[in-house]
Order: sequence, then C-alpha cells, then structure tokens
Amino acid sequence: MRRSLVVGNWKMNGSKATAVSLLTGLKARLAELNAVDVCVCPPFLYLSDANAQLADSAIRFGAQDVSGNGQDNGAYTGEVSAAMLSDAGCEFAIVGHSERREYFAESADLLAKKVECLLAEKITPILCVGEKLDDRESGLEQQIVEGQLHEIVDRLGVQVFSQMVVAYEPVWAIGTGKTATPEQAQQMHAFIRGVVSKLDPVIADKLPLLYGGSVKPDNAKDLFAMQDIDGALVGGACLDVDSFSLIIKAKESV
Ligand code: PEP
Repeated sequence: MRRSLVVGNWKMNGSKATAVSLLTGLKARLAELNAVDVCVCPPFLYLSDANAQLADSAIRFGAQDVSGNGQDNGAYTGEVSAAMLSDAGCEFAIVGHSERREYFAESADLLAKKVECLLAEKITPILCVGEKLDDRESGLEQQIVEGQLHEIVDRLGVQVFSQMVVAYEPVWAIGTGKTATPEQAQQMHAFIRGVVSKLDPVIADKLPLLYGGSVKPDNAKDLFAMQDIDGALVGGACLDVDSFSLIIKAKESV
C-alpha cells in the first residue's frame, strides 16, 4: 500500500492573522484523519505558527523551498537551510515547483543539491515535475517529465526516490482552472512510475505520486479514483478551510 498524501501549497499568500485562522480552522475540521497524510506548506515566516498551532494535530507541515547551498550556517543572505527547516519542525519541503523553475531559473544541479540537503535532515522532498502547454501541444510531455526525473536520478541515484514524493503538475493546469483530465493525469503518473520502475521496480511501486493543477473539491474524487494518483498538491483551493477539507475527504473516500 502506498502512502496517501494531500499537500497544501500556500504560496506567497496571507498574513499572520490569516495563517493562524487557516491553521486553527483546519485543525478543527480535520481532527481525525483516516489513512491520508495531510501537510500544509505556509510561507517560511509562518512555519513557527504552524509548529505552534498544529502541535496536537495529525496535520503535518513543510516548507515551499529550501536553500541548496548545503551548509547549516553561512553567508547566504536570504536563504533558509534544511537544518533550519528541521529545527522549525518541517517534515516536508517542495522542490522544483514550476514557479521557482521559471521565475528563479533553478537549475538541475541546484534542485539536486536541495534534495540532498533535505534528505540529510530527514525532510521529505516533494519534487515537482510537469510540462508547459507548448510541450504538450508538441507531444513532448513525456520527454520533458522524464528529463526532469533524470535530473535527480543522474545526480543522486534512484535510491533517493525511496525517500521522496513526486508531484506531477502540468504547468498549464496550475492556477488556471484547467485541470488535466483524470485519464491524462493517470497516463502521466503511470509513465512516471514506469520511468522509475526501469531503474528500481520496488522503489517505483512505493513512490507516492501526487497530482497538482487546479485540484478542487468537485474534481478531486475523479482524480483520486485513478490507480497511480496517490494524492494531490493543492494551490488555490488549500487557502480555504472548506475546500481543502473536502479534497482530503475525497481522498479518504476512495
Ligand atoms: C500549485 O501551485 O502547486 C498548484 C497546483 O496550484 P493550483 O492548485 O492553484 O493550480
């Protein structure tokens, strides 16, 4: 049995007041979790609020990014190390979100270093992969995603995938309201598992694969019904207690 996981990526949204209100609202709504792990990823500044508010809750929390410089301390202005995330109580961190790949030009070498830093602190990296619209329109989506997986495998070996989560997030579906159909998502998830399986079938079989891209309460159940979709990485809808809770309930019900 693979682990089911629903992750909320808050992105750069909210304030201290809204963060606390969202955390307390989720804690109350999700007092019991049945066979689904739930993780919220607030901005760095509100991780201490997550730590305080979720102390007696099954909801876990993580970061949206991490420094790849590989040191606990050092002259890296603005960076936050994996050791600091661990100190703050993070169990997960998102790596390679398409917004970071695009706006911050994150290279394959940097992403691999981030994964290494997180694993050294026993934080689970959630590696995002996914093609842009023109890649899909040119029929290149599998080639792009396979390349993104190999960026990590070729540098760190397939073994790291036994301690990671992969999120398939087609860029054209993020924040656009356009979701991949359950069949499109399943096809890519099966492809991803196949790429890893060629290297290590046992690791591939256990690898949690999340779908991300305009997941909402009304499309979540159909996505979760797919064999290789083990959960979701949710952006916009995770900022609303009702919507995020309904997505988690949809995962619990399949
Ligand atoms: C995301 O940012 O990871 C995401 C999937 O966003 P949204 O759900 O808003 O499309």
